[in-house]
Amino acid sequence: MSGEYSFFDAVSKSFDRAARFTKFDGGTLEQIKQCNSVLRLNFPVKIGDKIQVIKAYRVQHSHHKLPCKGGIRFSDMVNLDEVMALAALMTYKCAIVNVPFGGAKGGIAINPRNYTAYDLEKITRRYTSELVKKRFIGPGEDVPAPDYGTGEREMSWILDTYAALNPGEVDAAACVTGKPITQGGVRGRREATGLGVFYGIREVCKMENVMKKLGLSIGVEGKRVVVQGLGNVGYHSAKFFEEAGALITGLAEYEGAIFNANGLDVDAVVLHRKQTGSILNFPGATNITNSSEALELDCDILIPAALENVINGENAPRVKAKIIGEAANGPLTPEADDVFIEKGVLVIPDMYLNAGGVTVSYFEWLKNLSHVRYGRLDKRFTENQNAKLLEQLEELTGKKVHGTQRELMLHGPDEEDLVKSGLEETMINATHEIMDCWNANPEIRDMRTASFVVAINKVGTSYSELGIFP
Ligand code: NAD
Repeated sequence: MSGEYSFFDAVSKSFDRAARFTKFDGGTLEQIKQCNSVLRLNFPVKIGDKIQVIKAYRVQHSHHKLPCKGGIRFSDMVNLDEVMALAALMTYKCAIVNVPFGGAKGGIAINPRNYTAYDLEKITRRYTSELVKKRFIGPGEDVPAPDYGTGEREMSWILDTYAALNPGEVDAAACVTGKPITQGGVRGRREATGLGVFYGIREVCKMENVMKKLGLSIGVEGKRVVVQGLGNVGYHSAKFFEEAGALITGLAEYEGAIFNANGLDVDAVVLHRKQTGSILNFPGATNITNSSEALELDCDILIPAALENVINGENAPRVKAKIIGEAANGPLTPEADDVFIEKGVLVIPDMYLNAGGVTVSYFEWLKNLSHVRYGRLDKRFTENQNAKLLEQLEELTGKKVHGTQRELMLHGPDEEDLVKSGLEETMINATHEIMDCWNANPEIRDMRTASFVVAINKVGTSYSELGIFP
Protein backbone atom coordinates (compact mmCIF):
# COMPACT_ATOMS: atom_id res chain seq x y z
CA MET A 1 0.00 0.00 0.00
CA SER A 2 1.44 3.40 -0.87
CA GLY A 3 0.76 5.79 2.06
CA GLU A 4 -2.92 5.93 2.95
CA TYR A 5 -4.07 4.70 -0.45
CA SER A 6 -5.43 1.17 -0.73
CA PHE A 7 -6.03 -0.02 -4.29
CA PHE A 8 -8.20 -2.91 -3.05
CA ASP A 9 -10.35 -0.47 -1.03
CA ALA A 10 -10.71 1.67 -4.16
CA VAL A 11 -11.93 -1.35 -6.16
CA SER A 12 -14.28 -2.30 -3.29
CA LYS A 13 -15.61 1.26 -3.19
CA SER A 14 -16.49 1.13 -6.90
CA PHE A 15 -18.01 -2.33 -6.33
CA ASP A 16 -20.23 -1.05 -3.48
CA ARG A 17 -21.35 1.91 -5.55
CA ALA A 18 -22.54 -0.50 -8.27
CA ALA A 19 -23.93 -3.23 -6.00
CA ARG A 20 -27.21 -1.42 -5.29
CA PHE A 21 -28.08 -1.54 -8.99
CA THR A 22 -27.86 -5.36 -9.01
CA LYS A 23 -30.36 -7.97 -7.85
CA PHE A 24 -28.08 -9.58 -5.24
CA ASP A 25 -28.18 -9.39 -1.46
CA GLY A 26 -25.46 -8.73 1.12
CA GLY A 27 -24.12 -12.29 1.49
CA THR A 28 -23.75 -12.95 -2.21
CA LEU A 29 -22.19 -9.54 -2.77
CA GLU A 30 -19.67 -10.13 0.04
CA GLN A 31 -18.73 -13.52 -1.46
CA ILE A 32 -18.18 -11.92 -4.87
CA LYS A 33 -16.11 -9.08 -3.40
CA GLN A 34 -13.63 -10.96 -1.18
CA CYS A 35 -10.46 -12.76 -2.31
CA ASN A 36 -10.96 -16.55 -2.09
CA SER A 37 -7.31 -17.61 -1.63
CA VAL A 38 -4.18 -15.63 -0.89
CA LEU A 39 -0.64 -16.99 -1.14
CA ARG A 40 2.27 -14.99 0.33
CA LEU A 41 5.77 -16.22 -0.34
CA ASN A 42 9.28 -15.46 0.86
CA PHE A 43 11.83 -17.61 -0.95
CA PRO A 44 15.62 -17.50 -1.17
CA VAL A 45 17.49 -17.02 -4.44
CA LYS A 46 21.25 -16.84 -4.79
CA ILE A 47 22.16 -13.58 -6.57
CA GLY A 48 25.93 -13.44 -7.18
CA ASP A 49 27.42 -14.95 -4.03
CA LYS A 50 24.67 -13.68 -1.71
CA ILE A 51 21.27 -15.10 -0.72
CA GLN A 52 18.38 -12.73 -1.37
CA VAL A 53 14.94 -13.32 0.12
CA ILE A 54 12.33 -12.55 -2.52
CA LYS A 55 8.79 -11.47 -1.58
CA ALA A 56 6.05 -12.70 -3.89
CA TYR A 57 2.29 -13.25 -4.03
CA ARG A 58 -0.45 -15.05 -5.90
CA VAL A 59 -4.06 -14.18 -5.19
CA GLN A 60 -7.07 -16.09 -6.50
CA HIS A 61 -9.94 -13.68 -6.16
CA SER A 62 -12.77 -15.90 -7.35
CA HIS A 63 -13.36 -19.61 -7.84
CA HIS A 64 -16.84 -19.24 -9.33
CA LYS A 65 -15.28 -20.45 -12.58
CA LEU A 66 -12.03 -22.36 -12.97
CA PRO A 67 -9.24 -22.01 -13.82
CA CYS A 68 -8.40 -18.66 -12.28
CA LYS A 69 -6.61 -16.31 -14.62
CA GLY A 70 -4.39 -13.26 -14.24
CA GLY A 71 -0.99 -11.82 -15.01
CA ILE A 72 2.25 -11.84 -13.06
CA ARG A 73 3.84 -8.49 -12.32
CA PHE A 74 7.51 -7.76 -11.58
CA SER A 75 7.84 -4.41 -9.82
CA ASP A 76 9.42 -3.22 -6.59
CA MET A 77 6.09 -1.58 -5.82
CA VAL A 78 4.25 -4.95 -5.72
CA ASN A 79 2.43 -5.55 -2.43
CA LEU A 80 -0.44 -7.70 -1.23
CA ASP A 81 -3.04 -4.92 -1.42
CA GLU A 82 -2.15 -4.27 -5.06
CA VAL A 83 -2.21 -7.95 -6.04
CA MET A 84 -5.60 -8.42 -4.33
CA ALA A 85 -7.04 -5.43 -6.18
CA LEU A 86 -5.69 -6.59 -9.53
CA ALA A 87 -7.02 -10.13 -8.92
CA ALA A 88 -10.48 -8.71 -8.17
CA LEU A 89 -10.40 -6.62 -11.36
CA MET A 90 -9.57 -9.82 -13.28
CA THR A 91 -12.76 -11.51 -12.03
CA TYR A 92 -14.90 -8.60 -13.19
CA LYS A 93 -12.97 -8.26 -16.44
CA CYS A 94 -13.43 -11.93 -17.38
CA ALA A 95 -17.16 -11.71 -16.58
CA ILE A 96 -17.63 -8.61 -18.77
CA VAL A 97 -16.02 -10.20 -21.83
CA ASN A 98 -17.59 -13.64 -21.20
CA VAL A 99 -14.30 -15.41 -20.60
CA PRO A 100 -15.09 -18.40 -18.34
CA PHE A 101 -12.38 -17.87 -15.70
CA GLY A 102 -12.17 -16.65 -12.12
CA GLY A 103 -9.82 -13.73 -11.45
CA ALA A 104 -6.27 -14.05 -10.11
CA LYS A 105 -3.04 -12.06 -10.06
CA GLY A 106 0.56 -12.63 -9.09
CA GLY A 107 3.44 -10.38 -8.27
CA ILE A 108 7.11 -10.51 -7.38
CA ALA A 109 8.45 -7.49 -5.49
CA ILE A 110 11.57 -6.83 -7.55
CA ASN A 111 12.69 -4.20 -10.01
CA PRO A 112 13.64 -6.34 -13.02
CA ARG A 113 16.04 -3.63 -14.20
CA ASN A 114 18.27 -4.46 -11.19
CA TYR A 115 18.75 -8.11 -12.21
CA THR A 116 20.47 -9.95 -15.04
CA ALA A 117 18.43 -12.25 -17.30
CA TYR A 118 20.08 -15.19 -15.53
CA ASP A 119 18.92 -13.94 -12.10
CA LEU A 120 15.41 -13.24 -13.41
CA GLU A 121 15.22 -16.77 -14.76
CA LYS A 122 16.21 -18.20 -11.35
CA ILE A 123 13.62 -16.02 -9.57
CA THR A 124 10.86 -16.91 -12.06
CA ARG A 125 11.58 -20.63 -11.93
CA ARG A 126 11.69 -20.66 -8.11
CA TYR A 127 8.40 -18.70 -7.95
CA THR A 128 6.81 -21.21 -10.35
CA SER A 129 7.95 -24.19 -8.31
CA GLU A 130 6.42 -22.56 -5.21
CA LEU A 131 3.14 -22.15 -7.13
CA VAL A 132 3.28 -25.82 -8.17
CA LYS A 133 3.90 -26.91 -4.54
CA LYS A 134 0.84 -24.97 -3.36
CA ARG A 135 -1.30 -25.91 -6.41
CA PHE A 136 -1.57 -22.27 -7.44
CA ILE A 137 -0.80 -23.07 -11.08
CA GLY A 138 -2.19 -25.59 -13.58
CA PRO A 139 -4.32 -25.65 -16.76
CA GLY A 140 -7.49 -26.32 -14.73
CA GLU A 141 -6.54 -24.42 -11.57
CA ASP A 142 -4.74 -21.16 -12.15
CA VAL A 143 -3.21 -19.87 -15.38
CA PRO A 144 -0.81 -16.87 -15.20
CA ALA A 145 0.02 -14.46 -18.05
CA PRO A 146 2.29 -11.43 -18.61
CA ASP A 147 1.74 -8.13 -16.86
CA TYR A 148 3.85 -5.10 -15.96
CA GLY A 149 7.54 -6.06 -16.12
CA THR A 150 7.02 -9.54 -17.64
CA GLY A 151 6.59 -10.89 -21.16
CA GLU A 152 6.96 -13.95 -23.38
CA ARG A 153 10.39 -14.83 -22.00
CA GLU A 154 9.14 -15.16 -18.41
CA MET A 155 6.09 -17.14 -19.59
CA SER A 156 8.29 -19.72 -21.33
CA TRP A 157 10.37 -20.13 -18.12
CA ILE A 158 7.12 -20.70 -16.22
CA LEU A 159 5.93 -23.33 -18.71
CA ASP A 160 9.27 -25.13 -18.73
CA THR A 161 9.38 -25.29 -14.91
CA TYR A 162 5.76 -26.44 -14.67
CA ALA A 163 6.26 -29.12 -17.37
CA ALA A 164 9.44 -30.39 -15.66
CA LEU A 165 7.58 -30.78 -12.36
CA ASN A 166 4.54 -32.43 -14.02
CA PRO A 167 6.06 -34.96 -16.42
CA GLY A 168 3.69 -36.44 -18.96
CA GLU A 169 0.94 -33.85 -18.42
CA VAL A 170 -0.43 -33.61 -21.94
CA ASP A 171 -2.04 -30.21 -21.37
CA ALA A 172 0.97 -28.62 -19.63
CA ALA A 173 1.22 -25.84 -22.25
CA ALA A 174 -2.15 -24.51 -21.01
CA CYS A 175 -0.67 -23.74 -17.54
CA VAL A 176 0.33 -20.22 -18.68
CA THR A 177 -0.56 -17.87 -21.56
CA GLY A 178 1.33 -15.11 -23.34
CA LYS A 179 3.97 -17.63 -24.41
CA PRO A 180 6.13 -17.31 -27.52
CA ILE A 181 4.49 -18.87 -30.60
CA THR A 182 7.12 -21.63 -30.63
CA GLN A 183 6.09 -22.64 -27.09
CA GLY A 184 2.34 -22.85 -27.79
CA GLY A 185 1.54 -19.14 -27.85
CA VAL A 186 -1.18 -17.79 -30.12
CA ARG A 187 -0.62 -15.30 -32.92
CA GLY A 188 -1.96 -11.88 -31.94
CA ARG A 189 -1.49 -12.23 -28.15
CA ARG A 190 1.43 -9.79 -27.98
CA GLU A 191 -0.59 -6.85 -29.29
CA ALA A 192 -3.97 -8.05 -27.93
CA THR A 193 -4.37 -5.68 -24.97
CA GLY A 194 -3.41 -2.61 -27.01
CA LEU A 195 -5.67 -3.71 -29.86
CA GLY A 196 -8.54 -4.27 -27.41
CA VAL A 197 -7.96 -0.76 -26.01
CA PHE A 198 -8.17 0.59 -29.56
CA TYR A 199 -11.33 -1.41 -30.46
CA GLY A 200 -13.04 -0.31 -27.22
CA ILE A 201 -12.31 3.40 -27.62
CA ARG A 202 -13.08 3.28 -31.36
CA GLU A 203 -16.51 1.80 -30.60
CA VAL A 204 -17.28 4.56 -28.09
CA CYS A 205 -16.08 7.16 -30.62
CA LYS A 206 -18.66 5.80 -33.10
CA MET A 207 -21.54 6.62 -30.70
CA GLU A 208 -23.15 9.81 -31.92
CA ASN A 209 -24.85 10.74 -28.65
CA VAL A 210 -21.70 10.18 -26.59
CA MET A 211 -19.47 12.20 -28.91
CA LYS A 212 -22.02 15.02 -29.10
CA LYS A 213 -22.09 15.29 -25.30
CA LEU A 214 -18.28 15.49 -25.22
CA GLY A 215 -18.19 18.06 -28.01
CA LEU A 216 -16.13 15.74 -30.23
CA SER A 217 -16.55 14.61 -33.82
CA ILE A 218 -17.41 10.98 -34.56
CA GLY A 219 -14.56 8.51 -35.20
CA VAL A 220 -10.93 8.27 -34.10
CA GLU A 221 -9.41 9.85 -37.20
CA GLY A 222 -7.72 13.16 -36.40
CA LYS A 223 -8.19 12.77 -32.63
CA ARG A 224 -5.25 13.98 -30.50
CA VAL A 225 -4.03 11.15 -28.30
CA VAL A 226 -1.56 11.14 -25.38
CA VAL A 227 -0.20 7.81 -24.10
CA GLN A 228 1.62 7.21 -20.81
CA GLY A 229 3.89 4.12 -20.82
CA LEU A 230 5.52 2.75 -23.97
CA GLY A 231 5.53 -0.89 -22.88
CA ASN A 232 3.47 -3.71 -24.30
CA VAL A 233 0.06 -2.11 -23.79
CA GLY A 234 1.02 1.53 -24.36
CA TYR A 235 3.10 0.93 -27.46
CA HIS A 236 0.46 -1.18 -29.22
CA SER A 237 -2.40 1.15 -28.22
CA ALA A 238 -0.46 4.12 -29.65
CA LYS A 239 0.42 2.19 -32.79
CA PHE A 240 -3.21 1.17 -33.57
CA PHE A 241 -4.44 4.74 -33.04
CA GLU A 242 -1.67 6.05 -35.31
CA GLU A 243 -2.60 3.51 -38.00
CA ALA A 244 -6.26 4.59 -37.79
CA GLY A 245 -5.31 8.21 -38.51
CA ALA A 246 -5.23 9.65 -34.98
CA LEU A 247 -2.41 12.04 -33.98
CA ILE A 248 -0.19 10.77 -31.18
CA THR A 249 0.65 14.18 -29.74
CA GLY A 250 2.25 13.08 -26.46
CA LEU A 251 4.19 10.04 -25.23
CA ALA A 252 5.41 9.58 -21.67
CA GLU A 253 7.93 7.20 -20.12
CA TYR A 254 9.29 7.20 -16.58
CA GLU A 255 12.36 9.30 -17.53
CA GLY A 256 10.32 12.09 -19.19
CA ALA A 257 7.75 12.84 -21.88
CA ILE A 258 7.63 14.43 -25.34
CA PHE A 259 5.03 16.47 -27.18
CA ASN A 260 4.41 17.40 -30.81
CA ALA A 261 1.09 18.97 -31.83
CA ASN A 262 1.52 17.58 -35.36
CA GLY A 263 1.86 14.01 -34.14
CA LEU A 264 4.78 11.73 -33.22
CA ASP A 265 5.95 8.74 -35.25
CA VAL A 266 5.55 5.97 -32.63
CA ASP A 267 8.10 3.53 -34.07
CA ALA A 268 10.65 6.31 -34.58
CA VAL A 269 10.23 7.32 -30.92
CA VAL A 270 10.75 3.71 -29.78
CA LEU A 271 13.89 3.46 -31.93
CA HIS A 272 15.19 6.80 -30.61
CA ARG A 273 14.64 5.60 -27.01
CA LYS A 274 16.47 2.36 -27.75
CA GLN A 275 19.40 4.16 -29.30
CA THR A 276 19.76 7.01 -26.78
CA GLY A 277 18.38 5.36 -23.63
CA SER A 278 15.73 8.08 -23.22
CA ILE A 279 12.51 9.28 -24.79
CA LEU A 280 13.71 12.89 -24.37
CA ASN A 281 15.32 14.95 -27.16
CA PHE A 282 13.32 13.30 -29.95
CA PRO A 283 13.78 15.43 -33.10
CA GLY A 284 10.97 17.96 -33.58
CA ALA A 285 9.36 17.28 -30.19
CA THR A 286 9.20 19.39 -27.02
CA ASN A 287 10.69 17.81 -23.87
CA ILE A 288 8.61 17.50 -20.70
CA THR A 289 11.12 16.60 -18.00
CA ASN A 290 8.50 15.94 -15.32
CA SER A 291 6.86 12.96 -17.02
CA SER A 292 3.58 13.09 -15.09
CA GLU A 293 2.87 16.55 -16.56
CA ALA A 294 2.15 14.76 -19.86
CA LEU A 295 -1.13 13.64 -18.29
CA GLU A 296 -2.19 17.28 -18.25
CA LEU A 297 -1.52 17.96 -21.96
CA ASP A 298 -4.36 19.35 -24.06
CA CYS A 299 -5.73 16.36 -26.03
CA ASP A 300 -8.94 14.49 -26.93
CA ILE A 301 -7.98 11.05 -25.63
CA LEU A 302 -5.62 10.27 -22.75
CA ILE A 303 -4.41 6.69 -22.39
CA PRO A 304 -2.59 5.91 -19.14
CA ALA A 305 -0.85 2.58 -19.86
CA ALA A 306 1.78 2.31 -17.12
CA LEU A 307 0.72 1.85 -13.51
CA GLU A 308 -2.10 2.52 -11.05
CA ASN A 309 -2.92 5.67 -9.11
CA VAL A 310 -1.30 8.09 -11.57
CA ILE A 311 -4.36 10.38 -11.72
CA ASN A 312 -5.75 11.33 -8.35
CA GLY A 313 -7.68 14.10 -6.61
CA GLU A 314 -4.65 16.38 -6.81
CA ASN A 315 -3.87 16.34 -10.57
CA ALA A 316 -7.30 15.35 -11.98
CA PRO A 317 -8.59 18.97 -12.06
CA ARG A 318 -5.68 19.85 -14.40
CA VAL A 319 -6.33 16.98 -16.87
CA LYS A 320 -7.67 18.42 -20.14
CA ALA A 321 -8.60 15.24 -22.07
CA LYS A 322 -12.26 14.64 -22.95
CA ILE A 323 -11.92 10.84 -22.93
CA ILE A 324 -9.66 8.83 -20.62
CA GLY A 325 -9.09 5.23 -21.72
CA GLU A 326 -7.77 3.20 -18.80
CA ALA A 327 -5.33 0.87 -20.56
CA ALA A 328 -3.42 0.28 -17.29
CA ASN A 329 -5.15 -1.27 -14.31
CA GLY A 330 -6.36 1.29 -11.77
CA PRO A 331 -4.70 4.45 -13.13
CA LEU A 332 -7.45 6.62 -11.59
CA THR A 333 -8.31 6.86 -7.89
CA PRO A 334 -11.98 7.20 -6.78
CA GLU A 335 -11.27 10.90 -6.07
CA ALA A 336 -10.18 11.36 -9.70
CA ASP A 337 -13.39 9.62 -10.83
CA ASP A 338 -15.44 12.18 -8.85
CA VAL A 339 -13.57 15.07 -10.50
CA PHE A 340 -14.17 13.67 -14.00
CA ILE A 341 -17.87 13.02 -13.42
CA GLU A 342 -18.17 16.62 -12.31
CA LYS A 343 -16.20 17.86 -15.36
CA GLY A 344 -18.13 15.67 -17.83
CA VAL A 345 -15.04 13.71 -18.89
CA LEU A 346 -15.75 10.18 -20.12
CA VAL A 347 -13.68 7.55 -18.31
CA ILE A 348 -13.60 4.20 -20.12
CA PRO A 349 -12.75 1.79 -17.31
CA ASP A 350 -9.82 -0.63 -17.10
CA MET A 351 -11.79 -3.72 -16.25
CA TYR A 352 -13.40 -3.68 -19.65
CA LEU A 353 -11.03 -1.63 -21.80
CA ASN A 354 -7.88 -3.68 -21.19
CA ALA A 355 -9.67 -7.05 -21.38
CA GLY A 356 -8.10 -7.77 -24.80
CA GLY A 357 -5.17 -9.54 -23.15
CA VAL A 358 -7.29 -11.97 -21.19
CA THR A 359 -9.64 -12.52 -24.13
CA VAL A 360 -6.79 -13.62 -26.39
CA SER A 361 -5.23 -15.54 -23.49
CA TYR A 362 -8.49 -17.49 -23.41
CA PHE A 363 -8.05 -18.25 -27.12
CA GLU A 364 -4.47 -19.36 -26.40
CA TRP A 365 -5.61 -21.64 -23.55
CA LEU A 366 -8.26 -23.21 -25.83
CA LYS A 367 -5.63 -23.73 -28.54
CA ASN A 368 -3.33 -25.46 -26.03
CA LEU A 369 -6.11 -27.76 -24.81
CA SER A 370 -7.19 -28.64 -28.34
CA HIS A 371 -3.59 -29.09 -29.52
CA VAL A 372 -4.37 -27.55 -32.89
CA ARG A 373 -3.61 -24.17 -34.45
CA TYR A 374 -6.60 -21.97 -35.32
CA GLY A 375 -7.36 -22.14 -39.04
CA ARG A 376 -5.50 -25.40 -39.61
CA LEU A 377 -8.66 -27.32 -40.44
CA ASP A 378 -10.62 -24.76 -42.39
CA LYS A 379 -8.24 -22.25 -44.02
CA ARG A 380 -7.63 -24.25 -47.21
CA PHE A 381 -11.28 -25.36 -47.39
CA THR A 382 -12.47 -21.74 -47.24
CA GLU A 383 -9.91 -20.71 -49.88
CA ASN A 384 -11.14 -23.47 -52.22
CA GLN A 385 -14.75 -22.38 -51.69
CA ASN A 386 -13.80 -18.74 -52.31
CA ALA A 387 -12.01 -19.73 -55.53
CA LYS A 388 -15.13 -21.57 -56.79
CA LEU A 389 -17.35 -18.60 -55.94
CA LEU A 390 -15.01 -16.15 -57.64
CA GLU A 391 -14.83 -18.37 -60.73
CA GLN A 392 -18.65 -18.34 -60.96
CA LEU A 393 -18.75 -14.59 -60.45
CA GLU A 394 -16.17 -13.99 -63.18
CA GLU A 395 -18.00 -16.30 -65.56
CA LEU A 396 -21.33 -14.54 -64.95
CA THR A 397 -19.93 -11.00 -65.22
CA GLY A 398 -17.32 -11.69 -67.87
CA LYS A 399 -14.84 -9.69 -65.81
CA LYS A 400 -11.61 -10.82 -64.10
CA VAL A 401 -10.58 -9.73 -60.58
CA HIS A 402 -6.83 -9.04 -60.28
CA GLY A 403 -4.06 -8.20 -57.80
CA THR A 404 -4.65 -7.48 -54.11
CA GLN A 405 -8.40 -7.51 -54.61
CA ARG A 406 -8.18 -11.10 -55.89
CA GLU A 407 -5.89 -12.12 -53.00
CA LEU A 408 -8.31 -10.61 -50.49
CA MET A 409 -11.31 -12.42 -51.97
CA LEU A 410 -9.55 -15.78 -52.01
CA HIS A 411 -7.92 -15.49 -48.58
CA GLY A 412 -9.02 -18.03 -45.96
CA PRO A 413 -8.61 -16.98 -42.32
CA ASP A 414 -5.36 -17.86 -40.57
CA GLU A 415 -4.77 -17.86 -36.82
CA GLU A 416 -4.09 -14.14 -36.52
CA ASP A 417 -7.22 -13.22 -38.54
CA LEU A 418 -9.41 -15.41 -36.34
CA VAL A 419 -7.90 -14.19 -33.07
CA LYS A 420 -8.24 -10.53 -34.06
CA SER A 421 -11.81 -10.88 -35.30
CA GLY A 422 -12.72 -12.79 -32.12
CA LEU A 423 -11.25 -9.94 -30.09
CA GLU A 424 -13.02 -7.26 -32.14
CA GLU A 425 -16.37 -9.02 -31.70
CA THR A 426 -15.75 -9.37 -27.95
CA MET A 427 -14.84 -5.71 -27.41
CA ILE A 428 -17.74 -4.39 -29.51
CA ASN A 429 -20.28 -6.57 -27.68
CA ALA A 430 -18.88 -5.61 -24.27
CA THR A 431 -19.02 -1.89 -25.14
CA HIS A 432 -22.67 -2.12 -26.11
CA GLU A 433 -23.62 -4.25 -23.12
CA ILE A 434 -22.09 -1.70 -20.73
CA MET A 435 -23.57 1.31 -22.55
CA ASP A 436 -27.02 -0.34 -22.62
CA CYS A 437 -26.80 -0.94 -18.86
CA TRP A 438 -25.77 2.69 -18.30
CA ASN A 439 -28.52 4.06 -20.53
CA ALA A 440 -31.16 1.85 -18.89
CA ASN A 441 -30.52 3.34 -15.47
CA PRO A 442 -30.21 7.13 -15.23
CA GLU A 443 -28.99 6.85 -11.62
CA ILE A 444 -25.79 5.11 -12.73
CA ARG A 445 -23.25 7.91 -12.70
CA ASP A 446 -20.46 6.62 -14.94
CA MET A 447 -19.20 3.89 -17.22
CA ARG A 448 -17.15 2.31 -14.41
CA THR A 449 -20.27 1.78 -12.29
CA ALA A 450 -22.12 0.37 -15.32
CA SER A 451 -19.22 -2.05 -15.97
CA PHE A 452 -19.31 -3.22 -12.35
CA VAL A 453 -23.09 -3.75 -12.57
CA VAL A 454 -22.66 -5.93 -15.67
CA ALA A 455 -19.83 -7.88 -13.99
CA ILE A 456 -21.56 -8.36 -10.61
CA ASN A 457 -24.74 -9.58 -12.31
CA LYS A 458 -22.79 -12.21 -14.25
CA VAL A 459 -20.62 -13.42 -11.34
CA GLY A 460 -23.59 -13.37 -8.96
CA THR A 461 -25.73 -15.39 -11.37
CA SER A 462 -22.94 -17.91 -11.74
CA TYR A 463 -22.65 -18.27 -7.94
CA SER A 464 -26.43 -18.62 -7.55
CA GLU A 465 -26.60 -21.24 -10.28
CA LEU A 466 -23.74 -23.17 -8.68
CA GLY A 467 -25.84 -23.25 -5.53
CA ILE A 468 -22.73 -23.18 -3.38
CA PHE A 469 -24.23 -21.31 -0.44
CA PRO A 470 -25.14 -24.02 2.08
P1 NAD B 1 5.20 -3.13 -19.53
O1 NAD B 1 6.15 -3.44 -18.45
O2 NAD B 1 5.35 -3.78 -20.85
O3 NAD B 1 5.15 -1.55 -19.80
C1 NAD B 1 4.97 -0.55 -18.83
C2 NAD B 1 5.71 0.70 -19.31
O4 NAD B 1 5.39 1.80 -18.44
C3 NAD B 1 7.23 0.52 -19.28
O5 NAD B 1 7.77 0.88 -20.54
C4 NAD B 1 7.66 1.46 -18.16
O6 NAD B 1 8.96 1.98 -18.35
C5 NAD B 1 6.59 2.53 -18.24
N1 NAD B 1 6.48 3.35 -17.03
C6 NAD B 1 6.71 3.00 -15.75
N2 NAD B 1 6.50 4.03 -14.91
C7 NAD B 1 6.13 5.06 -15.69
C8 NAD B 1 5.79 6.42 -15.41
N3 NAD B 1 5.78 6.89 -14.18
N4 NAD B 1 5.47 7.21 -16.47
C9 NAD B 1 5.47 6.75 -17.72
N5 NAD B 1 5.79 5.46 -18.04
C10 NAD B 1 6.11 4.64 -17.04
O7 NAD B 1 3.76 -3.42 -18.89
P2 NAD B 1 2.39 -3.67 -19.65
O8 NAD B 1 2.21 -5.13 -19.79
O9 NAD B 1 2.30 -2.77 -20.83
O10 NAD B 1 1.35 -3.20 -18.53
C11 NAD B 1 1.00 -1.84 -18.35
C12 NAD B 1 -0.32 -1.74 -17.62
O11 NAD B 1 -1.32 -2.44 -18.36
C13 NAD B 1 -0.33 -2.37 -16.23
O12 NAD B 1 -1.22 -1.63 -15.41
C14 NAD B 1 -0.92 -3.74 -16.46
O13 NAD B 1 -1.53 -4.28 -15.31
C15 NAD B 1 -1.95 -3.41 -17.53
N6 NAD B 1 -2.36 -4.56 -18.34
C16 NAD B 1 -1.45 -5.29 -19.06
C17 NAD B 1 -1.90 -6.36 -19.84
C18 NAD B 1 -0.97 -7.14 -20.73
O14 NAD B 1 -1.46 -7.95 -21.53
N7 NAD B 1 0.33 -6.94 -20.68
C19 NAD B 1 -3.26 -6.71 -19.85
C20 NAD B 1 -4.15 -5.94 -19.11
C21 NAD B 1 -3.69 -4.87 -18.36
